[in-house]
Amino acid sequence: MSVSALYLHIPFCHAKCAYCDFDSCGLTGAALDGAIASYLPQLFERIDAFGRTGALDHIETVYVGGGTPSVLGRSLVDVVARVRTWCDPVEMTCEVNPESFDMPLAEGLARAGVTRISCGVQSLHDDELAEIGRLHTRATALEALRCARAAGFDVSCDLMCGLPGQTYESWLETLQGIIAEEPDHVSVYPLTLEAGTPLAQRAVRDGSLMPDEDLQADCMEAAERRLGRAGYARYEVASYARPGHACMHNQAYWTGRSYLGIGRSAAGMLSRSEATRYAALLPGLSEQLDASWDAARVRFVQLDDAAEHVAYELLTAREAAAEDLMLGMRRSCGVHASDIAHAAHVIGEDAVDEVARIACRRGLARWCDARLVPTEQGWLLGNELYGLMWDLADPA
Ligand code: SF4
Repeated sequence: MSVSALYLHIPFCHAKCAYCDFDSCGLTGAALDGAIASYLPQLFERIDAFGRTGALDHIETVYVGGGTPSVLGRSLVDVVARVRTWCDPVEMTCEVNPESFDMPLAEGLARAGVTRISCGVQSLHDDELAEIGRLHTRATALEALRCARAAGFDVSCDLMCGLPGQTYESWLETLQGIIAEEPDHVSVYPLTLEAGTPLAQRAVRDGSLMPDEDLQADCMEAAERRLGRAGYARYEVASYARPGHACMHNQAYWTGRSYLGIGRSAAGMLSRSEATRYAALLPGLSEQLDASWDAARVRFVQLDDAAEHVAYELLTAREAAAEDLMLGMRRSCGVHASDIAHAAHVIGEDAVDEVARIACRRGLARWCDARLVPTEQGWLLGNELYGLMWDLADPA
């Protein structure tokens, strides 16, 4: 198998959101221009280096994420063009935020070969957006979605529930407002407070800012009902799509397929043989592979702009099989019996059968047409379900 998915990370935003712990710097004006001028040549060098090895020859999907790729402006078109010198993906997504996305950029990206826009909307209430430090408003969010649609993209938008000041009613209004715009795809995430973020620090002083987990569960259920009635199928715990519009790229993350990550903080995953093939571009990896004869899979994260430092996690075949089961439980179609048989071959039939039985007994999963699929309860108690699968990685 060859690498079919490529992720590129753009670690800049115009301002840092109050809940965000991603690698992104909030910059504007000359500071942003300088950071971009320093970053892009190193990104291009890395794209070209992988391209020269043939690693990009079979790329089918590209996802440019961040950060906020649209803060690059016209330079984002150059990023897309650079990738397209090495491959011809069938799906190419760019993340954008409403305040930095307009019709000229949309048209430029469409001409360059971008097929899909993922827009960070989060809420259609200006007071909720302001609470979390977003720079856009309802009006600019709706305008961005219309630009994306007018330029001919597949359009996705991200929403969040459990925001400070958000109520069940205001969530329903956001859902209805988004459904009225008829995007092709909607992702729905519950807000989590990450340690060290401004919102988490404020929540220590003001408990009302803590996300209400019961309200979030109600909001997630309402999203499934409302989006379902509007023709969106929930194909992953956080993802809804109209028929034929599921994100192809994200499937690679959930099905154990290899992917490359380029750019600071970008993550990749390769089989041992692929990692060995591209080891010249992954500093320090050869030594780690030599010391780990049983590593079957390599996860890596680029730690700096120039990729001089890369962090690795080496997984045994057992850990890789457990990870595939765990990630499969994020998908509504779950895991096919043949993949479970593969995991049983690697891990041991008794252990895998026992975990599947426990998941079904607790109401977290069920068998359906030769697939083990998560239940609604399993998704609501995701940590319990995913933990059951991941525990299979431990031979003890
Ligand atoms: S736009 Fe996204 S990446 Fe940037 S600060 Fe906000 S949440 Fe983080």
